[in-house]
Amino acid sequence: MGAATEAILWGPAREWVQNRNPGSELKCRAGSGQATYHKFDPHSRRHTITYGRQMVMAKFGGASSQGWLSTREIQGRDYFDGEVSTCNLLAHTCCHEFAHLLQNVSGERLHGSVHNAAFYRILDELHASAGAAAVRAFLLEKSRQQGIELPQSIMALVDVRDQMARFAVGDTVQFGHAPRQREGRIIRVNRRTCTVQGTGRWRGARYRVPVSMMRHSR
Ligand SMILES: [Zn+2]
Repeated sequence: MGAATEAILWGPAREWVQNRNPGSELKCRAGSGQATYHKFDPHSRRHTITYGRQMVMAKFGGASSQGWLSTREIQGRDYFDGEVSTCNLLAHTCCHEFAHLLQNVSGERLHGSVHNAAFYRILDELHASAGAAAVRAFLLEKSRQQGIELPQSIMALVDVRDQMARFAVGDTVQFGHAPRQREGRIIRVNRRTCTVQGTGRWRGARYRVPVSMMRHSR
């Protein structure tokens, strides 16, 4: 994904970025956890995009792909014809992070407003131009060379509304994974998440939990 971002997305944009911000470079790296993000260091003028290994693993499973913003973006904005597959999710993630880089360079990354209209204008553009499709083709080609199967089949995603219907205010739920598993009681049911008031060890804390990460505790 790093190589795809550097070759396919950064390659053609580099000159434009450097005209605005001389000497800036991009380095992509793999992180160990789920965290996937773009960062810019104004001193070294280095953009860094980190792709979390666990984020990649999660996108190989239908259930674990559910909660991600990239899944909602592909479906909601009709990227790759709205088809959610591992291959499309990973290609889209490259575009999403790179859109943050372009957003940052164009001065549209505002505090407290990260996924704003300017961001989606850039992301739409990456999908409408050949960029996103080229990233997808690159990922398929490279994984084939390395003997990794990158699934292109459409994932059977459970409708979020069906999932939400299983939860109600007052339910006791668990969320997160050991050793960070937490417990609480639902105090509000939102559109895709529940607001959970921590109980026991987590009393006093409040969480907004995606429905896919939540289960009833017994
Ligand atoms: Zn983002």
